[in-house]
Amino acid sequence: MAYAITQTCCNDASCVAVCPVNCIHPTPDEPDFGTTDMLYIDPRSCIDCGACADACPVDAIFPVDMLSESLKPYADVNARFYDGKPVSADVLGSSPVFHNWGAPTFDRTISSDFPAPDVAVVGSGPAGMYAVEDLLLHTSARVTLIDRLDVAGGLIRFGVAPDHPSTKRIDETFARYREHPRLTLRLGVEVGRDVTVDDLAARHDAVIYAVGASSARSLGIEGEQLPGSVAATDVVSWYNGHPDAGHPDASAEVDLSSERAVLIGNGNVALDVARILSSEPDGLEGTSISRDALARLRSSSVREVVLLARRGPEHAAYTEPELLALTRHPDFDVVVDIHDDRVAKAIDAAEPGEKAYLLQGVAQERIDWSSPAEGGRRRIVLRFHSSPREIRGEDRVSGLRTGGPESDVDIEAALVVRAVGYRGIGVRGLPFDETTGTIPNTAGRVEGRDGTYVVGWIKRGPSGGIGANKTCAQETVASLLDDVRSGTVRTSRDRSAKPKRTGLLRRS
Ligand code: NAP
Repeated sequence: MAYAITQTCCNDASCVAVCPVNCIHPTPDEPDFGTTDMLYIDPRSCIDCGACADACPVDAIFPVDMLSESLKPYADVNARFYDGKPVSADVLGSSPVFHNWGAPTFDRTISSDFPAPDVAVVGSGPAGMYAVEDLLLHTSARVTLIDRLDVAGGLIRFGVAPDHPSTKRIDETFARYREHPRLTLRLGVEVGRDVTVDDLAARHDAVIYAVGASSARSLGIEGEQLPGSVAATDVVSWYNGHPDAGHPDASAEVDLSSERAVLIGNGNVALDVARILSSEPDGLEGTSISRDALARLRSSSVREVVLLARRGPEHAAYTEPELLALTRHPDFDVVVDIHDDRVAKAIDAAEPGEKAYLLQGVAQERIDWSSPAEGGRRRIVLRFHSSPREIRGEDRVSGLRTGGPESDVDIEAALVVRAVGYRGIGVRGLPFDETTGTIPNTAGRVEGRDGTYVVGWIKRGPSGGIGANKTCAQETVASLLDDVRSGTVRTSRDRSAKPKRTGLLRRS
């Protein structure tokens, strides 16, 4: 009986590294790694050893015969990835690799006398922590980990939805590095407020910025500033109890007084927000959800959450595991609005493996938006080919005008959430690309600043889940180690004749 990877797959490939028969793909050195929604176990090759399940940091791997009812479809999801692929074929297209270890490759070698750099890592979210892990496990580096908040964890603590506790469990893996004897943790220190970029550069041999993308993209449409129009980033901060969401206005903006809420965008963040707004509050009790959000959800009037997507179901931004979980959620129904003929056609014509195929079997309805939402069982409506034109309302949101195939349609709602992606914020003293919202870099090296590096969303833009940061961090750390080797980054040992300044951030 094979094992299968399920919904919470974090894609960080810890399972790949321990599989003795190489039956988990794509591996980090295969071309489609980082582009698939998750990793998949080949049931034809799996020897049922369970090593992958032991190594999985988010408890996503189970024997197929032990899958719970809601996770049963993942047996097919895993198997389908291998449809048409020969068992002993190399997915790179050359020599056979399944069922046997390939020749070992050593992408990185470090000599025994490699100097121990003193590195500051700014940001304790997953990108920063994968960089810390790489430095502590593979070098003798001393690391100072800095975060502007008084608690560590970044996006894992304040971004991952509270009803995804297994995903949050990855922080247990990171916690042991925060307690590592060569790491000094500095919480409540903000670069730009408490310390400058130049100070950090002077006090450490190298600095890695892992500051993420904490602001929201805007749409530039009328009504966006009205009360009741909020960014998904703020809703996520609100239900996760982010310290920045603590002021009463932030909570009041999440207006749950009408029966319908509209979300613009259909990425995984939109799905997270839709699911939290539609779940039975009792089921969220005992999760890490903020007390305020749970109390507000208990008195919520929202029965229908509409997800607007400007493109068709074949181009949906959500990933398969998240959509699958949504359609099997016990607390609400999922319905596709077939207002446009292209929607049903795309779903009917879709083949396994295609995005629109995921909606085969999901209820379809031609919805009359002139009627208010019904007060029965909660539901989430997926509406495609529907661009937002205007957020409507006099002194607060009363609805949204969206384009339809023939004419514009008005959808009444007191809450409109813009879930159209995150955006990086510049760090004072470092270059910043306003177009991409990233710090310009080459393989993690910040342009024009030797010894300064970036990792995660501030390096490559706000896409990719937690595990995507692992390979991203490996690239950045590899650049840093190359620079130590070449002398571009000088360590204390190189400068032993001239002792470095000590200061606040060097004290343990
Ligand atoms: P995203 O996946 O990039 O989705 C953004 C959505 O906004 C898309 O539907 C996009 O439509 C839409 N959009 C952008 N500009 C728009 C405009 N002007 N008008 C209308 N719609 C617009 O971003 P995200 O949901 O913020 O997620 C960020 C990353 O975090 C993703 O990689 C996601 O998978 C990951 N994440 C993962 C999980 C998980 O695994 N559980 C949870 C949360 C987030 P188009 O597609 O047409 O551009």
